[in-house]
Amino acid sequence: MVVVKSEHKPEAIGILGGTFDPVHFGHLRSALEVCQQLELNHVRLIPCAIPPHRQPTMASADARRLMLEIAVKYVPQLTVDDRELHREGPSFSVDTLLSLREQYVDNPLFLILGTDAFRSISSWSRWQQILPLAHIVVVQRPDETLDMHEELKVWYQQNLAQAEDRQFSSGKIWPLKVTPMAISATQIRDELSAGNPVNFLLPDSVIAVIEQLDLYQPKKT
Ligand code: ATP
Repeated sequence: MVVVKSEHKPEAIGILGGTFDPVHFGHLRSALEVCQQLELNHVRLIPCAIPPHRQPTMASADARRLMLEIAVKYVPQLTVDDRELHREGPSFSVDTLLSLREQYVDNPLFLILGTDAFRSISSWSRWQQILPLAHIVVVQRPDETLDMHEELKVWYQQNLAQAEDRQFSSGKIWPLKVTPMAISATQIRDELSAGNPVNFLLPDSVIAVIEQLDLYQPKKT
């Protein structure tokens, strides 16, 4: 854990990884609000290549990256980082953080996780290495309780951040409240495959890409 001295204040960077299959307002608005609340310079949205803990994505990596790029085109606080798409094998978060740390040696890094993702963190590859590499921001998802098993609860309590911990580049857990949006990519894929409209769940520009690429459409018989 590096103390960031005031005369040399490197950019604070947020990291939101996911399948983004497709990206939606729950991802985008949460990322932007975390950026504002923690006074980050920007948040990097990182699409995964092969998700380690779930089914393969429905849309290709290129399509998911394109949807993200279009979604954040006019939002300078959010950028797309495709480093996981250039890596072989499952996209482990710890490898992404190691690669970011090489590039951003003493920058405060904030890994943003929804409550669903945080609850499963202790099943992730080399999860104990994550906190020394970055802070973790836990964003409450609507309809999700943060019920943790005992070991995780102890770890969470021990590492909860205080305001003054903002001076460190990693090592603390920051629970944050953002505008609750009960939107999931699963819901969007389900609506599309049932032939229903998905307006107001994700940007119109992303809906246009979905239509152009014929993604998530009802199966033709
Ligand atoms: P799926 O429904 O396919 O599981 P998802 O909507 O959960 O997808 P992911 O790409 O898996 O989206 O999520 C990436 C990250 O964004 C995770 O940390 C997840 O918890 C968080 N996230 C997703 N949707 C929301 C939301 N509505 N509000 C806050 N965080 C969210």
